[in-house]
Amino acid sequence: EDLRRESLMIVSAFAAKFFHEAMLETEEGQSIGLSYFKERGFTAETIKKFELGYSPDQWEAFTGAAIRNGYKEQFLVESGLSVKRDNGALFDRYRGRVMFPIHSFTGRVIGFGGRTLKKDKNVAKYVNSPESEIYHKSNVLYGLYFAKKAIREQDNCYLVEGYADVLSVHQTGVENVVASSGTSLTTEQIKLIARFTKNITILYDGDAAGIKASLRGLDMILEEGLNVKVVLFPDGHDPDSFVQSKGSSAFKKHIEENKKDFILYKTQILLKEVGNDPIRKADVIREVVESIAKIPDNIKASVFIKECSGLLQIDERALLSELNKMRTAKA
Ligand code: ATP
Ligand code: MN
Ligand code: MN
Ligand code: MN
Repeated sequence: EDLRRESLMIVSAFAAKFFHEAMLETEEGQSIGLSYFKERGFTAETIKKFELGYSPDQWEAFTGAAIRNGYKEQFLVESGLSVKRDNGALFDRYRGRVMFPIHSFTGRVIGFGGRTLKKDKNVAKYVNSPESEIYHKSNVLYGLYFAKKAIREQDNCYLVEGYADVLSVHQTGVENVVASSGTSLTTEQIKLIARFTKNITILYDGDAAGIKASLRGLDMILEEGLNVKVVLFPDGHDPDSFVQSKGSSAFKKHIEENKKDFILYKTQILLKEVGNDPIRKADVIREVVESIAKIPDNIKASVFIKECSGLLQIDERALLSELNKMRTAKA
């Protein structure tokens, strides 16, 4: 068992090196992969640190090299790096994509994200490793290995949506940043962060759909006893595009000026939505108290009750009794 896991990690490390060298040392890699990353503003240092790479646009460039180097087909397939045809022959899963190796929090390569360079809407923008014995996407945070020291020092973790966001934010000197990479945040991922800090600041893409959808998912973080803040970006921007186009100090300033406590933020958004309709306002009150009820720390919860009673313009005691009802129901 451990041997299988180790074999998968060894072939993944080989692949990361293969893609990295294919980008830096071949003409195709330089003119397509490297120039793509450079155009996006990633420095040589970032490219090296995160071991970014390029998968040649051929059917068997990687698989062939791996076989020649003695790697077993079984592990190439199980890691998802190669795909088996019906006739048994293997081909490369990643072709003509820029490659983001995904590291475990101890720094081993366990999977990959590969971004297409085509504008074609029918091509998946990112292809990620399939689940394997070493890669469980719900337990992984992209960038954690490179962020954990800074997370501990800053006692805060920035959470972003994508690979490029991690790279750009890290590169600008804000190193305490990780991404959930495509999946909505899981309890396992939160527990992973909680080993290093109890404070999460969410930097999500500035599209309205994503924001609304995220309101529910975030209650989970409260349940784990973490403090959650939210920073919104202007519509059409994500942290990567914001920092790359406006620069490091504008980015940091934006965070400082726009970070809001999640519960207060949620209260404001929901209130804005319902206007003066008393019945819908009652629903909002219940939803907000529901979030507050998730906070394990009673003192913290009562502070939020107080602040929300102001925002909701409703008596603090009414909110408290609602809170106690919910807690009793849960217990
Ligand atoms: P880029 O800046 O390179 O265009 P992004 O990170 O801003 O990419 P988003 O569309 O915002 O891309 O998606 C956020 C994250 O969701 C991606 O980084 C990736 O991890 C994941 N993702 C996006 N599209 C897909 C897909 N088709 N399949 C799997 N994961 C995806
Ligand atoms: Mn998005
Ligand atoms: Mn982006
Ligand atoms: Mn994005």
